[in-house]
Amino acid sequence: TVRTRFAPSPTGYMHIGNLRTALFTYLLAKKNNGKFILRIEDTDQERYVEGAVDIIYNTLRRTGLQWDEGPDIGGPVGPYVQSERMGMFKDYALKLVESGHAYYCFCDKDRLEEVRKIQQASGIAPKYDGHCKNLSKEEVQAKLDAGVPYVIRQKCPTEGTTTFHDEVFGDITVENSVLDDQILIKADGMPTYNFANVVDDHTMGITHVVRGNEYLSSTPKYNLLYEAFGWDVPVYIHVPPVMKNATEKLSKRNGDASFEDLAAKGYLDEAIVNYIALLGWAPKGENEMFTMEELIQEFDVSGISKSPAIFDTQKLKALNGEYIRKLTPEQFIEYAAPYIRETCKREDIDMNLMAELLQPRTELFTDIPEQVDFIDELPDYDIEMYTHKKMKTNSENSLEALREILPVLEGVSAWTLDNIHTALFTLIEKLEVKNGRILWPLRVAVSGKQFTPGGGVELAEILGKDETLRRIETGIE
Ligand code: GLU
Repeated sequence: TVRTRFAPSPTGYMHIGNLRTALFTYLLAKKNNGKFILRIEDTDQERYVEGAVDIIYNTLRRTGLQWDEGPDIGGPVGPYVQSERMGMFKDYALKLVESGHAYYCFCDKDRLEEVRKIQQASGIAPKYDGHCKNLSKEEVQAKLDAGVPYVIRQKCPTEGTTTFHDEVFGDITVENSVLDDQILIKADGMPTYNFANVVDDHTMGITHVVRGNEYLSSTPKYNLLYEAFGWDVPVYIHVPPVMKNATEKLSKRNGDASFEDLAAKGYLDEAIVNYIALLGWAPKGENEMFTMEELIQEFDVSGISKSPAIFDTQKLKALNGEYIRKLTPEQFIEYAAPYIRETCKREDIDMNLMAELLQPRTELFTDIPEQVDFIDELPDYDIEMYTHKKMKTNSENSLEALREILPVLEGVSAWTLDNIHTALFTLIEKLEVKNGRILWPLRVAVSGKQFTPGGGVELAEILGKDETLRRIETGIE
């Protein structure tokens, strides 16, 4: 069976790129009726952030990426937190020493620094020089007995090439001469991240490794480890990064890089998940709107692109708008009410009318406060706002229009959208003018704005009769 894993490091922050990796990992497992495993890679204690693991749990749960095995729910191959697995790695490394695929290295900091300097001066990429690679068994034993501190390094071939296959990037071949004899076990006896990652993936039975393509360059060394152990190499699926544009990354500082950032901006969880599925993955058909179930059906590794995905805020917004329109009016009101209430406190406002007005037009809940800020109080406005080329209005003929509108609306007894509409259109017919000549002045007079959710009729309905008439009178004065 397919077993995939999401292996985040708890950085206190769920980057969009990471969440996208989690989503692909989840979809791949579910598509194949496999298991989606959560492993926390917390060995890098310097990066440890309080509460960070909860952010991972909460984000995955909120986005519907429920794991089948993980730290909190356990499973057959636990523990699922890397720092709790520390005991086993050294034994694995010693097996590699035994089989000649790894070696003890006793070089101290000063010597390594010296090597690095020489390499730098001659323009060679930094790399361990293999000083301890060919120590005899006796030499090694003598140093161990003398208590000389050591690390264990991977013994990489220096000639020939290593080739591995990636489902997205194809066959990748590297010259073995560039491979660094990386440290597997540090001087404190703990594994390096790279070593723990490989041993964990194997011992957890991971069949498909989905991760960011920044790990592509480490993969040959990972593969040599699998081969040295005689383990099956997993299927690799390296995914491209998610970028702000061709050159810039999404950054924490700009507040545009994490799931929390997007949620705080008023995007619906479902819209976020749907959108990030499209970051670096293209569905086969035209449709781009998918529920999680549909994503599971549609997802196919062959649709993953090699090129960086560009985060397109406009596209996310448009998609969010589509999700908003799919809400029932009740759901819409529930989401929108806090945003409406930021600027509109009037108790007598009919929320159902607000929903009718706002739901078809809202792409982002955080845009709502600004859209309804004229309801409580008519803002000061410039008389020039009445001028609209296409509507053929100016401040003069608008005032005339308002004088005509006032008695007509005064005569509307039951204040409904239909009645207001009929009254105004009767007037329009009588005056033989274009609609805009009447409706534009009304819109500006009742809102003090040129851009409003809905036109004059809808705004009048929401405001109520008294307030509408009062605002028209203010306009006339
Ligand atoms: N812990 C790594 C990260 O957060 C994941 C590496 C992997 O998936 O192999 O980037």
